[in-house]
Amino acid sequence: MKYTPRQLSYAQYLLRRMGFQTPKDIDQYLQQLLQSKGRYHFNPKAKNPFKAWQFSAKAGVDALVSEMELKKAPANIPLLRSQLSHFTATQLARYSFCPAAFSISHTFETNIETGDGPMTMGEQLHESLRLSRQKQKSGTTTDPFYRRAWQNPAIAKILRAETVYTGHGVDAHLFSNEKTGFVGSPDYIFRDREGAYFVVEEKFIQYRDPMNPSAAKLNKEEWAGTLATKNQERQQEWEKIPFYFFKNHLLQVLAYLANIGDYPLQYGYLVYWLYDFKDGEAYVHKAGVKKLSIDSKNLELYNHYLDRFQQFLQRGVEPFDVESVNVKKCAACSQSPYCMHKTKRFEEVRFPYRKEDIRLYPAEFPGSLRQQF
Ligand code: SF4
Repeated sequence: MKYTPRQLSYAQYLLRRMGFQTPKDIDQYLQQLLQSKGRYHFNPKAKNPFKAWQFSAKAGVDALVSEMELKKAPANIPLLRSQLSHFTATQLARYSFCPAAFSISHTFETNIETGDGPMTMGEQLHESLRLSRQKQKSGTTTDPFYRRAWQNPAIAKILRAETVYTGHGVDAHLFSNEKTGFVGSPDYIFRDREGAYFVVEEKFIQYRDPMNPSAAKLNKEEWAGTLATKNQERQQEWEKIPFYFFKNHLLQVLAYLANIGDYPLQYGYLVYWLYDFKDGEAYVHKAGVKKLSIDSKNLELYNHYLDRFQQFLQRGVEPFDVESVNVKKCAACSQSPYCMHKTKRFEEVRFPYRKEDIRLYPAEFPGSLRQQF
């Protein structure tokens, strides 16, 4: 999927209005936007009708138009009423992801219509794919993915362990630690067969399954009789690719380990489920697991971010390194519609986020579009 020349010209103009300064940043942002905005698509007239997630240039441009509307009238953005009395693992994780993202999400009611995006879809999928569901069916399913995933020793260990806490749902108990000022609810706490307690946090990431190529490619390979060999090659390649575990997710698990005192937690697992769609159904095609404990290296990492985070809350301001802005990350960031820091024009970030900084910049409207818009 690509932008049409008119879509591209209009999208470039919108980003200049929002404050982007260089063609390189604009280009990278738009390319990433294509990867992160999509719509669920079903074409019953297709030769091989199948429902699929399709990335969409129109969805990307629509998102920019919504953002422009929001930034035209920042005074209308509703503020969050609640004050921060405790900190949570999620807040610390978001701060380590980007201080501006933390500040925005705890200043505004960020309920902008983001469309049927991967984040939203991922959240909905939690219920059908999450570990607790897999645990229920682990003895009975014949699904080849799950049987493969369960051969991973860590996943097998989790499935065999006794569930002592599940953190989903509105009724989930919140753990608190008055000494550290922490409050939070992990996804799970289990007790393993040796009696040790451990915490688990699971994340869902939409990622194209190389074993699930487009219908056109499948047809071609079926026709040439190469489908089975190609699929085997794809699977072998796919299994070799290692996981990269994001620092903010690692910090979230460490925050649970460091602050939950109700159970003697000895270690934690961060579990990544990569999912795709086939025939309208979501399925997981790769699982990655990282084991963590509070050793000296992890404690240093945790304390480093906790100190910075607490100072930011106290002072309400910290320097913002414009050189560290990665516009590709910004294009996929859930707080991006509110954010001015992605433009690289701000050398400090404040908490609460300053409405006064949210604005549009002058930019020339492309002459080639004057007739159409
Ligand atoms: S858009 Fe970029 S700079 Fe802004 S909050 Fe998100 S990651 Fe941070």
